[in-house]
Amino acid sequence: MLAAMSDLVTQGPDGTLSVSDNPVIPFIEGDGTGVDIWPAAQLVLDAAAAKHGRSVHWKEVLAGQKAFDETGSWLPEETVETFRTHLIGIKGPLTTPVGGGIRSLNVALRQVLDLYVCLRPVRWFTGVPSPVVHPERVDMVIFRENTEDIYAGLEAEAYTPEAEKLRWFLVDNMGWNVREGSGIGIKPISEVGSKRLIRAAINYALSHGRRSVTMVHKGNIQKFTEGAFRNWGYQLVGEEFSDVAVSWDDCDGKPGDRLLVKDAIADITLQQVLTRPDEFDVIATTNLNGDYLSDALAAQVGGIGIAPGGNINYVTGHGIFEATHGTAPKYAGQDKVNPGSLLLSGVMMYEHLGWHQAAADIVSALESTIADKVVTYDFARLMDDATEVKCSEFAAAIVDRL
Ligand code: NAP
Repeated sequence: MLAAMSDLVTQGPDGTLSVSDNPVIPFIEGDGTGVDIWPAAQLVLDAAAAKHGRSVHWKEVLAGQKAFDETGSWLPEETVETFRTHLIGIKGPLTTPVGGGIRSLNVALRQVLDLYVCLRPVRWFTGVPSPVVHPERVDMVIFRENTEDIYAGLEAEAYTPEAEKLRWFLVDNMGWNVREGSGIGIKPISEVGSKRLIRAAINYALSHGRRSVTMVHKGNIQKFTEGAFRNWGYQLVGEEFSDVAVSWDDCDGKPGDRLLVKDAIADITLQQVLTRPDEFDVIATTNLNGDYLSDALAAQVGGIGIAPGGNINYVTGHGIFEATHGTAPKYAGQDKVNPGSLLLSGVMMYEHLGWHQAAADIVSALESTIADKVVTYDFARLMDDATEVKCSEFAAAIVDRL
């Protein structure tokens, strides 16, 4: 079937997406286990769309090992351009080339399209084995800043001319007595970058009926980066959201019917999301904190085999939804691993496109499959009396329950 121009997802002047019933959506299959999880996820996504009279015109684009083998480039310009013109896409995991020119393909894609939000909803699905007693209390949505922090910073290796030059600059010009033989890292955190991330988190919380946004930072030690992130967030509440949101200090923790914006230090947050998860709702945080926090939280609700993610620019409308785990090369091609992370990333994508009923159908079919103890190896090894099925069989079992 040939796609028409009207089947491109576009963004209107008010920021809403225009989506036909047959949208063209680019996908990257992914390296390693991508060959297993992509067809499985696609089977379920297609079945759920068909149930509501829709179909996706999937357009494959290349990145990672498959791209390198076919084109000599890890991230062909055509791929970036396709995501640019089609706005929304989905991807499996990609091998990070060792010794290649690109530090990470995922980071490169996020930076090229300025996908400044890494969105990681973390909730428990009934029946999923979890190491905590009350996984059902975990229902958080993490907004991780995606373009700044040490990921966009500079690192100089100890004893190299770069490190020595930087060290002497700091000693001579700033009076900082950096110890000889130090590796040095620099992390930038900007007002613009912080505010647009926190703005997205607040808007999401408001539109999804959430109670609070917690800004997670390490501002007690890194005052002018992490601390500034927090201060700019509170400033933003006063500048743009004073009628609908209120900061903790301005209401003594009692926001009434307004959205509560509060903050928490990163180290205590990692403890409290475990001991008092119901006190956290939407979380807005810097890049590295978000990295730690999303995986720690994913562990509470079943691990990275099932944790979805999306990288979004709410201004341009671009979004790439992705499995959050890696390529798991030891399992590649064995039709074994859990397609849940990629499938639920597809669910996030459907929600983003406004296909809420199809998304909800997939979630309930997934839940009833797991409740019937029909699961892949990663869950089977943690459950009693489970029926262990292959990746493709798990997808077929979900489709049966749609
Ligand atoms: P990984 O591929 O995430 O695998 C680590 C472990 O996680 C696996 O051994 C497996 O645990 C579990 N796992 C991963 N995917 C799973 C799935 N679908 N279902 C169930 N369990 C799953 O991490 P890695 O081995 O450190 O990285 C391998 C490659 O992936 C590297 O090249 C890395 O750079 C890349 N990577 C890519 C992304 C991305 O594209 N977003 C993210 C992270 C890493 P068990 O052994 O316990 O079964």
